[in-house]
Amino acid sequence: MSEILINSTKFKNNLDLIAEHIGDKDKLALVMKDNAYGHGLQEIATLACAYGIKNIFVKNESEALKIAHLFEHITVLYGRICNDSPLNIHVSINSMDNIHSLEPSRCVELKVNTGMNRNGIPREKLQTFIEEILLKKLVLFGVFAHNGYGDVSEQSFQDAQKVFSEVKEEVLYLAEKLSFKIPRFHSLSSSGTLRSDKIEDDLVRIGIAAYGYLSNTFDIPLSKKLTPIASLWADKICEQSLKKGSKIGYGGKTVLEKDTIISTYDIGYGDGLFRINGNKPSLKTAEGYIILPVTSMDCFSCESTLERVCVFDDATSIAKLFDTIPYEVLTSLSPFIKRSVI
Ligand SMILES: *Cc1c(COP(=O)(O)O)cnc(C)c1O
Repeated sequence: MSEILINSTKFKNNLDLIAEHIGDKDKLALVMKDNAYGHGLQEIATLACAYGIKNIFVKNESEALKIAHLFEHITVLYGRICNDSPLNIHVSINSMDNIHSLEPSRCVELKVNTGMNRNGIPREKLQTFIEEILLKKLVLFGVFAHNGYGDVSEQSFQDAQKVFSEVKEEVLYLAEKLSFKIPRFHSLSSSGTLRSDKIEDDLVRIGIAAYGYLSNTFDIPLSKKLTPIASLWADKICEQSLKKGSKIGYGGKTVLEKDTIISTYDIGYGDGLFRINGNKPSLKTAEGYIILPVTSMDCFSCESTLERVCVFDDATSIAKLFDTIPYEVLTSLSPFIKRSVI
């Protein structure tokens, strides 16, 4: 049965490197949205809890409920939550509708648009939103932004940081004026954190770097020390001795040039491994076996007799082949594949 192995030592090493860079382990919050970037929410949450991580960000309430017992604060980035959800589950506020659906004493984190123009409230509306939050007797637990320029030029990155520092100042001013407790501030994800020498915020939201990757469009020395923690393994379904000229798979795209032993393995595009149609350069397993096109929904063939092959232990090459980023390769992995921590 196919399996994703999660290497706990590598995960810990990545967290150590990031924590050391930040200089304060308590500022390290992890992002576990989308099934912990495909690694398995339960498995990663258990490891993060053992490491001492206290603050988590997930996609929605359904993810939050699965791990709420393990952490002090879990913030849901999107969607609503039920009023009877545990009170350590906090809600991101992107609009007035978000506020109106909540009952008093729920902690909220207000998201401010600092230039990515994706989510978040306009900074000009900061006071209006905070007043509404206070009026509804919600707790303004955090104010945050998402710097979407972590791996591009210095200037755009700094511009967004500048806007966020102005947002902070305004919140501090309002806190005094309207007498509410100063919320926590955070704005950086992996790339922004690792390129910054000093972290001014109370928290950083680390996703991809914890899993061992960092885009290298912007040269960040630490990125070379991170190691991918997940490897994807496929088990043999059957083995066949085939004659020269035999065709393999749908449409017979692969034609054997000599007598060959071919085995089939139990991962396909239905498991989230992108479909290989033979129109791109070939993809090889970690052992170096070419995955023969065309791959099926539940299996692929290659010229191997091994009982088990490693489809990848680093998603970078698959990502390159499909003109995408490791994030997409990883989050595509089916939640039905077994995850095991080693
Ligand atoms: C996904 C996400 C992150 C983490 O980004 P990485 O690049 O994986 O570190 C941080 N903040 C928000 C709001 C996100 O959506």
